[in-house]
Amino acid sequence: MKQLSTTDHSRDIAGLKYIYPVLSRRAGGVSIGINFNTNNACNWHCVYCQVPDLQRGVAPLIDFTLLENELHYFFQHLQAGAFYTQFNVPQALQQIKDIALSGNGEPTSVQEFARAIDLVAETALSYQILPDCHFVLITNGSLVHQKNVQQGLQRLQHYGGEVWFKIDSASLQGRKQINDCRDDNDRIIEKLQRSSQLCHSKIQTCLFDYSRFPWDEQAQQDFVRFFQQIKTQCNIREVMLYTLARPSLQPEAKKLRALTPTEMNAFAQKIERLGFSVSVA
Ligand code: SF4
Repeated sequence: MKQLSTTDHSRDIAGLKYIYPVLSRRAGGVSIGINFNTNNACNWHCVYCQVPDLQRGVAPLIDFTLLENELHYFFQHLQAGAFYTQFNVPQALQQIKDIALSGNGEPTSVQEFARAIDLVAETALSYQILPDCHFVLITNGSLVHQKNVQQGLQRLQHYGGEVWFKIDSASLQGRKQINDCRDDNDRIIEKLQRSSQLCHSKIQTCLFDYSRFPWDEQAQQDFVRFFQQIKTQCNIREVMLYTLARPSLQPEAKKLRALTPTEMNAFAQKIERLGFSVSVA
C-alpha cells in the first residue's frame, strides 16, 4: 500500500498529471495541489527551489478535458473514502484543508489562467469540497500586471480564495541573487497593490542564509524598512515566514542554510511590531 506521508511531496504520487495530494501535518490534513507547470518551467530561478530539472519558461497549454476528468476522478475517489484507504492516511488527517494552485513553476504563467480557476472551483463546489476548505494561489506575483492574471485573481476572489505572494528579499540585489528576478522594490509594491485590490492577499517569505546573500543585520533592516513601506501602501495584513524544510534541487543547494527557530522568531517579532499578523512555519 502506498503511504501518503508528510515528507513525500512528489507531484506524481496519485498518478495524475495535474493533481497531486500532499499530506500536511502543519495544516492537519490533505492539501490538494494543482500543477499547471507540468514542464517544470518557471519564469524565476529561486536558489531554494525544489522543482527537479527546473527550466526557464512558462506553463504549457492546459488540456482542459484531462484536467476536468482528473478533478472528477480525484474528488469521487475522495468522497468514497477510497483515497484515504489507498494511501493509508491516518484518521486524524482525513480532511481536506485546501486546494492549492501551486506547481512545478509559476502557476499564473499558464495561458487560460482564469478559465482554469473556474474549472477547478466549479468542480470542487459540485462535490462540496469548496467552500469548506481554503482555495489558495501560491505565486511569485511577477505576472500580476497581465490582464489574464488579473482576471484570474478576480475569479479567485469570487470563490473566496486567497493569494500567497512571494517576497524573499527586500532589495533588488537580494532578489537577483535569490530569485533571479529583476523587479525593484517599487515594482514589487505596485504588483502587491494590484494583487490585494483584486483578491485577498498575504505575503509569504522564505528566510535563509545564503553565502552570496547572507542573513545579516543589513538584510534584516532592509526587510523591516520594506515591510513598513508595504504596511502603509498595500492592503496586506498577514505575513507567513518559513525557512528551508527540504533540500533545494538547484546547484546553489550547498550554499544555503535554514534559519534556526530562534532566528525565525526574533525576526517575526520585528515584523509583528509593524502591525502585521505573522506566522512562522
Ligand atoms: S517561483 Fe517557485 S517554482 Fe519558480 S523557481 Fe521560485 S520556488 Fe521554484
